[in-house]
Amino acid sequence: MNLIDTHCHLDLPIFREDFHAIMADSRQAGISTMVLPGVCRSGWQHLLELCTRNSPLLPAIGLHPMYLDHHTQGHLVELAEHINSAPLVGLGEIGLDYFITGVSHRKQQELFEAQLALAQKAQLPVLLHVRKAHDQVLATLRRRHFPHGGIVHAFSGSQQQAEQYIGLGFKISFCGTITYDRAQKIRRLAQELKLQDIVVETDAPDMPPSSHHGERNVPPNLLEVVRTVAELRGESVEVISRATTANAGAILRL
Ligand SMILES: [Zn+2]
Repeated sequence: MNLIDTHCHLDLPIFREDFHAIMADSRQAGISTMVLPGVCRSGWQHLLELCTRNSPLLPAIGLHPMYLDHHTQGHLVELAEHINSAPLVGLGEIGLDYFITGVSHRKQQELFEAQLALAQKAQLPVLLHVRKAHDQVLATLRRRHFPHGGIVHAFSGSQQQAEQYIGLGFKISFCGTITYDRAQKIRRLAQELKLQDIVVETDAPDMPPSSHHGERNVPPNLLEVVRTVAELRGESVEVISRATTANAGAILRL
C-alpha cells in the first residue's frame, strides 16, 4: 500500500510527544506521504523545518480564514517570500469560512484573494478550507480564472458544487466524516464522483473516523477512510489506494 494523506497537522503541539511513533505507525499503515498545510504565520517555520527533516512530510503554508485576527499584511509579504524559497507543494490552507461567526466575510474575501493571487503568480495549486461558502469560493475562482486547481479539503458541499470544483481543476477530498452512517450526503457523493476526482485525508488531529470517535485523530486512521470509500463504491482497497495516490500526486505535482 502506498497512501497519501493530503491534509494533516502533524506540526501541532498535540503531536510533539509521540511524533516519531506516529511517523513509524504511519509508515507501517502504508502511508508514504503526508501533506502538512500551514494555518498561521507563527507556525510556518516549525512546519517547514519538520518537513525538511522528515521526507514523508510535504509542506504547504497559508493564512487560514478562521484565524483572521492573527494575520497581518506583513504575513502576506512573508508568504510571498516563502513561496520563492521553500519547496511548497501548494498554498494553504486558504479559503472562506462562513460557519464560524464574528469573522468579517469581507476581510476573509480579501485575504483569500490576496493568497490566490500569490498562488497564481507562483503557479501553485491551493488547499481550500471552505465551510458554508462554496458558491462564493467557486465564484471567486471563476472570476479570477485561477488555473492551477488544488484540493477542496474535508469537502462538505453538494454534488453540484463538487462537479463545479472538478470543472475548475480541483480534487475533492474525503476525511473521517464519511465513516459515520449519518453522513448520508457525503457518503453518496463518495459513490457518485468519478474515481479520478477523489483524494483522501485525515485532517489529524481533527475529524477522527467513527471507530476513534472523540479521540485525537492520527494519519494511520487514513486506512479507515480508504476502506470506507472502497466499501461505498464496491471496489477493492487496493484500487482506491492506487487511484487516490495517483490523483494527489497529479494535482500536487509530486
Ligand atoms: Zn486543516
